[in-house]
Amino acid sequence: MGCKVLNGRELATRIKSELKSEVEALKKKGIFPGLAVIIVGNDPASRVYVNSKKKACEEIGIQSFEYALDEDTGEEELIGLINKLNKDDKVNGILVQLPLPKQINEDKVINSIDPKKDVDAFHPVNVGKLMTGNPVFLPCTPAGVMELIKESGIDITGKECVVIGRSNIVGKPMAVLLLSQNGTVTVCHSKTANLEEKIKNADIIVAAVGKPEFIKGNFIKPGAIVIDVGINRLEGKKLVGDVEFETAKEVASAITPVPGGVGPMTIAMLMKNTVKAAVFQKEGI
Ligand code: NDP
Repeated sequence: MGCKVLNGRELATRIKSELKSEVEALKKKGIFPGLAVIIVGNDPASRVYVNSKKKACEEIGIQSFEYALDEDTGEEELIGLINKLNKDDKVNGILVQLPLPKQINEDKVINSIDPKKDVDAFHPVNVGKLMTGNPVFLPCTPAGVMELIKESGIDITGKECVVIGRSNIVGKPMAVLLLSQNGTVTVCHSKTANLEEKIKNADIIVAAVGKPEFIKGNFIKPGAIVIDVGINRLEGKKLVGDVEFETAKEVASAITPVPGGVGPMTIAMLMKNTVKAAVFQKEGI
């Protein structure tokens, strides 16, 4: 049985080119999508993510506004900037790159973003809408994972889905999206008993643990779909996922690589949300 490698880079390119045409058409109607990206401090990984997001904006024709703030920026100053951007008509989406330095409370910052501009879908209003089945914006990483699962050709209905990780940005919303597509979802975390047994039972595995090559091929049921959200940088600078790719691809029927799997899809979904935000703000939700 061959294993299909789900190419997130290719899929993201396709989605971005569709968005580019959509943005061209919107501009003719007087809608010019804009995204504000705020980065606080000098975290190298955050810098890489912000640059990728700006580059994707350029490719699609979205205007991007970058705010690079010092590591010692205070919470009030950051929230002051967000309040200003909330009122700025040129800005349809506001993205605050996480993590933030210790002196800033992330929850307070996320809560200060106008939910209509919350293209990451982290604001409690958007989280609540997702939970109740009426999402406006889908959270980018889980939405990207759903697109990749669709690419594998599998119908989620009735499938055993195991999500490893329960963070607010990946694991929890991932579980909600799989459930919304009629999967039977188990969410695992660091206190889960018999983790290997749970993974072995899964038709669809989504790994969002943050531990390099934590999930081995022998944990996986033959024929399962494996989506690897993890991004881990090894000492030699090599990037690996949460799944041991070489052993997993021997048993899985489809798998995402790292890099080139979920990462590019996250950015494509952010672009999609920004275009959606621009349309909604112009035409009303
Ligand atoms: P968090 O650190 O917030 O969450 C990790 C989760 O893994 C927690 O729920 C934790 O459990 C669980 N966990 C930790 N150790 C174990 C274990 N031994 N067994 C089972 N579960 C365990 O990370 P994120 O959700 O933010 O990110 C996860 C990974 O995804 C990271 O590598 C991150 O870099 C990557 N990522 C990639 C993105 C992309 O675009 N591709 C976007 C966002 C993240 P507990 O809750 O009990 O502590």
